[in-house]
Amino acid sequence: MNFSVREFEMLCPRLRDGLHFSVQEQGGDRVCVIEDPSSSRFFRVGVDEYHFFRSLDGTQTVASIIARRARDRSGDTFTEHEALQMLRWLKDNHLLAVESDRATGKSEESRRAWKSAVTWLNPLVVRIPIARMDGFFRVLARALRPFLGWFGFAIWFGVVLAGAAQIGMDWSRFNRGFTGIIARDNWLWLGLIWIGLKVLHECGHGIFCRHFGVRVREVGVIFVLFMPMGYVDATASLGLASRWRRIIVSCAGMYVEFFVAAIAAIVWASTPDGRAATLLHNTVVMGTMVTLFFNANPLMRFDGYFILSDLLGIPNLATQGRAWFMRAVSWLLLGTRRLRPERPATRGQWIVALYGIAAWVWQIAVFAGMMLAASVMFRGGGLLLAVIAGVVWVATPMLAFARQIAASMRQGTGAVAGVALRLALIAGLVALVFFAPYRKTVVVRGVVEFGDTRIVRAECPGFVDRIHVQDGDVVPAGELIMELRNEEAASALMKARRELDAQELRARVAYLRRDVAEYQAEFARADALRKALAENESYLATLKIRAPIAGRVSTRELERMPGAYFQRGEEILKLGQAAGREVKLAVAQDSLPHFKAALNRKVAVRIDGRGDVFAAQLERLDGNASRTSPHAALTALSGGPLPVQRVQDIDGASAKQEQERYELADPHFGATVRMTSADAASLDDGELARVKFRSPVKVTLWGETRAAVGRWMRKYGV
Ligand SMILES: [Zn+2]
Repeated sequence: MNFSVREFEMLCPRLRDGLHFSVQEQGGDRVCVIEDPSSSRFFRVGVDEYHFFRSLDGTQTVASIIARRARDRSGDTFTEHEALQMLRWLKDNHLLAVESDRATGKSEESRRAWKSAVTWLNPLVVRIPIARMDGFFRVLARALRPFLGWFGFAIWFGVVLAGAAQIGMDWSRFNRGFTGIIARDNWLWLGLIWIGLKVLHECGHGIFCRHFGVRVREVGVIFVLFMPMGYVDATASLGLASRWRRIIVSCAGMYVEFFVAAIAAIVWASTPDGRAATLLHNTVVMGTMVTLFFNANPLMRFDGYFILSDLLGIPNLATQGRAWFMRAVSWLLLGTRRLRPERPATRGQWIVALYGIAAWVWQIAVFAGMMLAASVMFRGGGLLLAVIAGVVWVATPMLAFARQIAASMRQGTGAVAGVALRLALIAGLVALVFFAPYRKTVVVRGVVEFGDTRIVRAECPGFVDRIHVQDGDVVPAGELIMELRNEEAASALMKARRELDAQELRARVAYLRRDVAEYQAEFARADALRKALAENESYLATLKIRAPIAGRVSTRELERMPGAYFQRGEEILKLGQAAGREVKLAVAQDSLPHFKAALNRKVAVRIDGRGDVFAAQLERLDGNASRTSPHAALTALSGGPLPVQRVQDIDGASAKQEQERYELADPHFGATVRMTSADAASLDDGELARVKFRSPVKVTLWGETRAAVGRWMRKYGV
């Protein structure tokens, strides 16, 4: 087709869909890089050409575009001849979708229709433009000008530091807030907070764009994995000449979110637990962790990617990386030297190659994670989601790739048998990684206890009066450990003694009067009183607490005990045999088979904060799961690994049982490990330990990952 000047003036050319543009700084000049993902080719043009190309949207004639440029003086105007040359260049490089395209055959058309349908159907990435809000951002940028420089950064830095300090100081409370964060009844709130944060995020981009004098073309919402993410047309910031300004604009969204999260953290610190604190907690999590995961992640095309590619000075990092990776895969499959990708020579080429691999691994990891989550949930939309994801992320690219390979093979590259062999080899390798059974190392947290521990309890209630031992003392059997005081019981005893004295007096008087019947009655009464008194005295004697066996005293709160009150039956301290040590474990449901198989086998015990490993043996495993922790130190409340939940108040338990109103979030099986090494005697009761052994039961990577995803989902409430 030949363009004559007259013809082309009336044409409404349109650029092909799917081209990517980015403006780069190269040696002080600004150039635009056009990438054509369908052919993996790159073109460099000047910024003025770029602006001209962008106006080729199929709705205006070339003549009107040239006329408008001349009127607006928005750049150097082109002559018709120059415009014609540029159009021809576009045409020669297949970047133009001219009318003749429609005639090139149904297959091209249907392929494109299919592609756009898939893009549209793809619920994992959907882009909805909302508005052109340039004016709005211009007003905001003007109003906020004093805060967009170093002064504003100093304020930002102070606030973020203060927020981080608040979280750091109360980390255990903050950590507790994660329980149930993705539970269904929290979804609405999470969604609202997310949208609010994203609106502010996009305002951040828009304001900094405008602050640096760049027009913001379009604002919209893009749904990634059903999560709405805002977007400000990326090409806006690419119009900036300075690389650092582009990076600032890319960072601006996260910058704003961190500020909001820091304020939320400061308010959270002084908000009592409740709905408001939960919302603030969620805001902090969404504004920092979730945002970093999505926006700062350079393996997806969000802020992080643009920051990285600007920092490295490599335009189109993603496309180049993917092209390199696909070439490498084709070479591996077809085995033709002609297809062999160039071995990376420069730093830039290495980065491109590594990025290509990393982005692919990331995509596979996200996909596998979603498949696993779906296979755990299975009911509801899980299966549907997995099917859609399978079509979009696996089937479509695989088909395209297969077609490409087939085309190469038709041209005589690679023999069918060779390709089949290589495919089988790769499939075999993948299957080997995921489904090869192996013996895994099981590690479970536990608590050291004295073997054969006796718990000393109060028999008669009382206040602690005197303590004769210290934590860790070794005492012989019968040694006086502690004295309690009970004024009430003591005065009752005195009263009983006085009553007995009076009764004995009455009995003696009856005896002196020789009144036998009276004497016998009074004597029987005195006898009963004497017996009651003796019982009372021995009961009161239990206020002196003695060691029931020889052993080592173990109670952490001994220094805080003087003056404390013990109820009848309440634990006062523990007395353990000085030599034997055990480790109490809580075994989760999915670790049970490993423990069953390891029963009576050797295990290793490592104590937190100590280097040595102690020999031990798994001795006992409960038959039933329980929500009661085998040891208080194992629960999250005392800094242990097991999450707990508040027990539902059924019978209105009284306030004094406060510490017993928590139970394990998941039922666990109690287990006991007996330490066999002699030097275990130096261990204290209550030390946290890690029990480790190589399981006799074999597992696969697939099964393990699936269990981990299930555990994670249960933990956070799905
Ligand atoms: Zn952003």
